[in-house]
Order: sequence, then C-alpha cells, then structure tokens
Amino acid sequence: MRADKLMSDLGYGSRKEVKELLKKGVLKKEGEAVTLGKTQVDPERDEILLYGEELVYRTHLYAMMNKPKGVISATEDGKEKTVIDLLEPEDQQFAPFPAGRLDKNTTGLVFLTNDGKLAHQLTSPRRKVGKEYIVSLHRPFTEEMKNILEAGVLLEDGTETMPAHITETEDPHVIHMEIYEGKYHQVKRMIAACRNHVTGLKRIRIGPLVLDESLAEGEYRELLEEEIEALK
Ligand code: URA
Repeated sequence: MRADKLMSDLGYGSRKEVKELLKKGVLKKEGEAVTLGKTQVDPERDEILLYGEELVYRTHLYAMMNKPKGVISATEDGKEKTVIDLLEPEDQQFAPFPAGRLDKNTTGLVFLTNDGKLAHQLTSPRRKVGKEYIVSLHRPFTEEMKNILEAGVLLEDGTETMPAHITETEDPHVIHMEIYEGKYHQVKRMIAACRNHVTGLKRIRIGPLVLDESLAEGEYRELLEEEIEALK
C-alpha cells in the first residue's frame, strides 16, 4: 500500500496532511526515511518505524467494556452518551460498534469490534450464543419461576423465547440467567411474564467471553489473543 494511505488509515490526518509529515521523515522503512506518499510499504512484511516506534499494523479492534448505566450501546445517539463516546480517539478510528445491545440502564459486558463477521456470529439467533446476566429481582425467586423460565416463555406480544438457564445464588433476590437470543428487553420481559420485576441487570458473559471484573464501570480493554480466538 502507499505510505500516505497507511499513515492516513492510522489516523495521522488527510492524505495531504500526512504527505507533510512524511516529508519530515517520521516514517522509516527498513531503516530509510520514506518521504514520498506514493512509496509502497507493506506493514505486514517491512520493518516500519513510525516516530521511532515499531509499527504493529492491524485492521481490527476487539475490546470489552463494562458499560455503566445511562450510556447507550449504539454508535451514535442524537442526545445521549454512547459506548463509542467512552473510547479513546485512537480506538474510535477503527469504527467499532457494539455486538448486540444492552438497555440504557443495564450494566456490564459490551463487546466492541469492527469485525462484522465475528459480530454477526455472536449475535445471530441461529448460533444460540449464550449471554449470562446477573438479575436482581423485586420479589424473591421461586421454583415456579424457574420452571417457567427454563421451559421458554410466551411473551406478552405473542413471541416465544427459548428456554433460559437459571443458576440461583444465596440471595433469593438475585439469580444468574443465561439466554440464547437477543430479543428486545428479553430478560425483563421474561421476568415480567413470571409476575416479577427486574430491579437491576448486569451482563457478565457472551459465549466464552467473560467480563473482566477489574474493569470499573465505563472502563474497557482490548481482548487478549486467546479471548479473540475463543470467540471465533
Ligand atoms: N435483556 C434486557 O431486558 N435488557 C438488556 O439490556 C439485555 C437483555
């Protein structure tokens, strides 16, 4: 690829702006300054130094965020803050998007990527990828609720859900619930179908990807190589 395109793709400015940077000798290929925009460089094969730092070129971003309440899991919103607004500018340049949505008042794991194929694999209902939530309940959990949720629920609008998997905790007002689809407000509507009410919702896992508990709400980190491999 052309050196000016590489610099521009990396977010160093327009083609015109990066030509000026190149003239200053900020980019070196195999030890030689590349001063012309049209010079061909291969970021995967050539040894490239950018401002003296070795360039590790990549096209994809894979990150997990612990979404706080009040933030929208979308790329843009007319008035509210989105998960993309919480990313550093250098990560926003990858044009990532959240794979699957969380409600505004739900917290926890959001997977952000610009890898459309992987995002599709994780969100396609045909793949039945499990999503695990910690669900806080208004009324204590009952055996009857377990039976209803694990049989699959007929929602108020006539849609049927697949069976959920429930793990109880020591606290009767808190359960772990795993669902395999991503219907609109699915957990809240399934709980409502049991004549109970969700008072707090946090996603802690998508398939094999587990929320890193060291991330405070609003923080994010890139995935480790093994986490990306496990998702693919
Ligand atoms: N189910 C819900 O009701 N809300 C979410 O944010 C996610 C799943």
